[in-house]
Amino acid sequence: MTSLSPAERLLQDLGITEPDEIDVEVIAWSVGAWVRYRALPQGDARIVGMVDRAIITVDDRASRVRQRFSVAHELGHWHHHRGQRLICHDASGNAPDHTCERDADRYAAELLMPCSMLVPWMAEAPMSVALMDSVARLFQVSRLAAALRLADIHAGRFALIVDEPDGRRWFKRSPALPRGWHLRLDVSTGKEGSEPVSQPKQWSVPAQRHFRGRNLSGIRLHCETLHAASGQRLTLITVPV
Ligand SMILES: [Zn+2]
Repeated sequence: MTSLSPAERLLQDLGITEPDEIDVEVIAWSVGAWVRYRALPQGDARIVGMVDRAIITVDDRASRVRQRFSVAHELGHWHHHRGQRLICHDASGNAPDHTCERDADRYAAELLMPCSMLVPWMAEAPMSVALMDSVARLFQVSRLAAALRLADIHAGRFALIVDEPDGRRWFKRSPALPRGWHLRLDVSTGKEGSEPVSQPKQWSVPAQRHFRGRNLSGIRLHCETLHAASGQRLTLITVPV
């Protein structure tokens, strides 16, 4: 049996077994952290702690799913980085100095979408935008958070490309995607020949369009795109079974 992550162990200790029981304020209270909501001049949330007590402050203007992720993220800092001075910043992209933020994001994803609930629920469902949306609704998380979590644990072969509003682009691969397939980030994620305003939501392309590597010929990829609430454009590229 695989060992539980710290977040999943906490859920188990609290007897939480259903998605609608993942009440982040109650979970925070159980580990000595009190959550309050205020207008924050900068960032989504912060945590100030001493010894075994902490206060998590969350921006009261953020959406509920964002607030939930922020509380879970700060609980990740409370678990992993207690006693350190931290200022939260965006952990997207690949900057190596964001390790603390990545640790906190991972803790948040595992707390809000634990394997013990997510894996049996999704069963054999193929990876798709519809699955991402179902996970987002059931676990009360954003589409992006659901997509990234599925990229951690889903058995399908797929990649997510995220285009940020400021033009940055980053990606996440599923573990099952062949290691020798290298994603081409220099190509447009839209359907070739379509104007941006008339882009379809789904289309298919030869595998060579989005990957470099061996054994790509004859394979067609299924592509789907959608916009996340925070302004990013997500493109899901799946390799059909
Ligand atoms: Zn943080």
